[in-house]
Amino acid sequence: MAEPRTMRVCALYPDLMNIYADRGNLLMLRRRCEWRGIGFELTGAGIGDPLDPHGADLYYMGGGQDRDQELCAGDLFEHKRAALSAAAERGALVLGVCGGYQLLGHAYQLGEEELPGIGLLDIRTVRSDGPRLIGNVGIEVDLPGATGRVLAGFENHAGRTQLGETAQPLGRVLSGHGNNDLDGREGARHGNVIGTYLHGPLLPKNAWFADWLISTSLGGSELEPIDDELEQLAHADARRAAGV
Ligand code: GLN
Repeated sequence: MAEPRTMRVCALYPDLMNIYADRGNLLMLRRRCEWRGIGFELTGAGIGDPLDPHGADLYYMGGGQDRDQELCAGDLFEHKRAALSAAAERGALVLGVCGGYQLLGHAYQLGEEELPGIGLLDIRTVRSDGPRLIGNVGIEVDLPGATGRVLAGFENHAGRTQLGETAQPLGRVLSGHGNNDLDGREGARHGNVIGTYLHGPLLPKNAWFADWLISTSLGGSELEPIDDELEQLAHADARRAAGV
């Protein structure tokens, strides 16, 4: 009989970085693991907490308002940067959504103030005085084993993100604004470190991506199919809203 498997997830700043029901992302992972008899362990690391670089298969940071990001950025840089880099180095997944995505980069510039990021992604974000980039969004992703698949969700950000040379976009914008409303790119990826502006929350609307994360966390295992009728409807609805 196969060994029982467990996906271990660590949520970074779960009380602060969770705008737009991003907790739904964690619940989605839990349910889809449990429905398949895969164990699921969730831990959290908030301000002041140490972070174990070997403690999780996926480190997750959700979105947040600028003031939440201001509260977390210093702690992330001082106390969690080394552990997250070590985790990414050993192949753990790191996923940041919106505010979490921005803090995975080099910095988030808010007027005169610059919030430090942890530089796991070669990206830089600047808050614009222009309109917030808000609306439904659809992208075609470029991910190992999932090239050409569509993610659909919702974005709401003032920050404009530019990719440096070593970050590749997570996907190509089919509809919506993406990283900066200019270059048709959305999100970023460097190996197992992934960032995106898609909320909605992201995973309940894109069950295939939740499964991609679970499978990748478990070393690329094949996952048992499960009855996805409702998830497919949510995905179709999000795609329809985005017009893709
Ligand atoms: N505060 C960031 C911005 O406005 C991120 C927002 C978010 O996480 N929705 O760009």
